[in-house]
Amino acid sequence: MTAPSKPPFKPGLLALALVAGLGLPGAMAAEVNVYSARHYDSDRDLYDGFREATGIRVNVIEAGGDALIARMKAEGRNSPADVFLTVDAGNLWRAQSEGLFQPAHSRLLSERIPAHLRHPEDYWFGFSTRARAIFVNPAKIDPARVASYADLADPGLKGQLCMRTSGAIYNLSLMGALIERWGVEKAEAWAKGVVANFAREPQGNDTSQLKSVASGECGATIANHYYFIRLGASNDEGDRAAADALRLVWPDQGGQGTHLNISGGGVLASAPHRAEAVAFLEYLAGDAAQAIVSEGNYEFPAVAAVPRPPALAALGPFEADTVNVAVYGENQARAQEIYDRAGWR
Ligand code: FE
Repeated sequence: MTAPSKPPFKPGLLALALVAGLGLPGAMAAEVNVYSARHYDSDRDLYDGFREATGIRVNVIEAGGDALIARMKAEGRNSPADVFLTVDAGNLWRAQSEGLFQPAHSRLLSERIPAHLRHPEDYWFGFSTRARAIFVNPAKIDPARVASYADLADPGLKGQLCMRTSGAIYNLSLMGALIERWGVEKAEAWAKGVVANFAREPQGNDTSQLKSVASGECGATIANHYYFIRLGASNDEGDRAAADALRLVWPDQGGQGTHLNISGGGVLASAPHRAEAVAFLEYLAGDAAQAIVSEGNYEFPAVAAVPRPPALAALGPFEADTVNVAVYGENQARAQEIYDRAGWR
């Protein structure tokens, strides 16, 4: 992988670039520079697929989301980055609030990506979704008792819940959604109720919560759906046994629906290859890319018409909350304050 670099400005290059834009013979190869905080093997297929479909080369820099945001801020207007990809609307909002994105108005994107999965002013778009579900050990809790997020605050579940820390972006975004649906007071009462039901202080990632529920250390947790699929598809016998011991509950069916988040991206304000960047986002919304993302990482396609691969279809249909994912970022600071007041570490 070569690092994208901005060619130094030479007057002669301008003419060449114009020729490239017209697609005349002898044109320079078009390219797009992607900074990605996603680290999935299947993403390589996306970049190859885009090049095959358009002839545009993709140069990729992969790193952690915070590191990439810091890098783009440091590079400023000279950044070679055209597109930033990351997981969680809360992270996209962080990049947006640093002024890193520009709107990418595209008829194709507004037609293909449902309105609640993209920024209202087109600063970024979700290309796949992840659901934050409840997972139960049926030997400890009857799954019917935790049919909603609200049920997790039921005093009858004292000592039963394992949760990861509140500063984890997945939990901040969940609280951002609950604030939107319930208001601050009810959301805070819920957080206090959940904390009162903790089996232990928050620790570990989503996968370790699932394993703790499977082992019986606790009775229920909240985790993103794909960690459950990964456990079940693992080469490790213990992992598969853990998945077998769990029951997935889609929360709030017939009500507000299950909390959804996205993987997504946007075009950077300083993008040197703006047209190619928009074309890349449009490619991500296409049938081929949607299939690659959902098969490779067990995320749901954002485009409703794209069929779910077997591992996702096996989870059964569910109703998702259709609140606009942009509110997760807008409510992020309030969400952390609520968790802090509730004593959710
Ligand atoms: Fe994750």
